Amino acid sequence: MSRTSLCIFATTVLLLQGAALPAFAQLPTGWKAHDLKRPAPPVVTPGESNLPLKAPSDAIILFDGKDLSNWRSKNGGKAKWKVVDGVMESVPKSGYVFSKQKFGDCQLHVEWASPANVKGKSQQRGNSGVFLMELFEVQVLDCYNNPTYSDGNAGSIYGQYPPLVNASRKPGEWQSYDIVFKRPRFDGDKLVSPAMLTVLHNGVLIQNHSKAFGPTAWMVHDEYDPLITEGSLGLQDHGNPVRYRNIWIRPLTDPPRPESKEEYPKEHQLSDEMKNRLVGQYEGFSIEKRGDSLFCVMADRPLEMVPVSETEFVFRKTAGSLIFTQTDDGQLDEAYLMLDAARRKVSTVRKPAPE
Ligand code: MG
Repeated sequence: MSRTSLCIFATTVLLLQGAALPAFAQLPTGWKAHDLKRPAPPVVTPGESNLPLKAPSDAIILFDGKDLSNWRSKNGGKAKWKVVDGVMESVPKSGYVFSKQKFGDCQLHVEWASPANVKGKSQQRGNSGVFLMELFEVQVLDCYNNPTYSDGNAGSIYGQYPPLVNASRKPGEWQSYDIVFKRPRFDGDKLVSPAMLTVLHNGVLIQNHSKAFGPTAWMVHDEYDPLITEGSLGLQDHGNPVRYRNIWIRPLTDPPRPESKEEYPKEHQLSDEMKNRLVGQYEGFSIEKRGDSLFCVMADRPLEMVPVSETEFVFRKTAGSLIFTQTDDGQLDEAYLMLDAARRKVSTVRKPAPE
């Protein structure tokens, strides 16, 4: 075989091997969008209704039954849904409505009811949707005795995750979604963590930290856009007169981190000789050497000691400190343990002299 034909042969083998690979990338759930073989969520009867659920004091009330002043249409104009008897209702062909305010991480409460007058089937019955950041749809659908594709059920992250169970109430009855939403995080163009949704439907958990693998869409899977990190809350007009009431939201922020590095001072290199001098039984605690580290052991709880000087220590993972005093001739004298939320001195202890 000539060098040229060997080269062609090798290329052909590689191409054939390539052809043997799957022709599509596996989706995170293992299921393609709207696969009818995907099992239907089991039906669960929710407990007795507690609706309307009063908003906590720090919630932003997006709809309290009066008007649509907190809402807009897609192009920014007036929201075109109607408000009747304290309820807002999707007007077919009027378009989605969006909150004027944008949100990222949030806790959201929405109450909705599909039409009591049942019409259509599958996706044509009481279809609407709650969109987080205008991108991620928690499906609204009359799923009471209404089979449809699994990832299109009420409470699905549409086209991606079916609800864990079908906790639907009857058509016309008020239902609730309580949604905890964590927005996607990016480092530059790179997705660091996807949007995450936890959803309770009528008080029943139906999405448990489901990681959206992109904005939701019909049939296709869209890509994340790193420029979008917040957005309006959207309610879908899907041609059915679905009603909404009592919509409130609590924007969430990351918990505070320490303002300074005071809690984590620079570590001092303690000599082995000093470590060995400190080991022993004290009143109320002992000091043990485990590997290269010293541990202050109290009530069987080992607290790793981080030296910040020859005689001062903080604990690696617990707020507090342990400080030794020395006599004029350099002998260890007393130990001061500071350990509780108030960071006050709780004891003065002395290492008993060895027998
Ligand atoms: Mg929908």
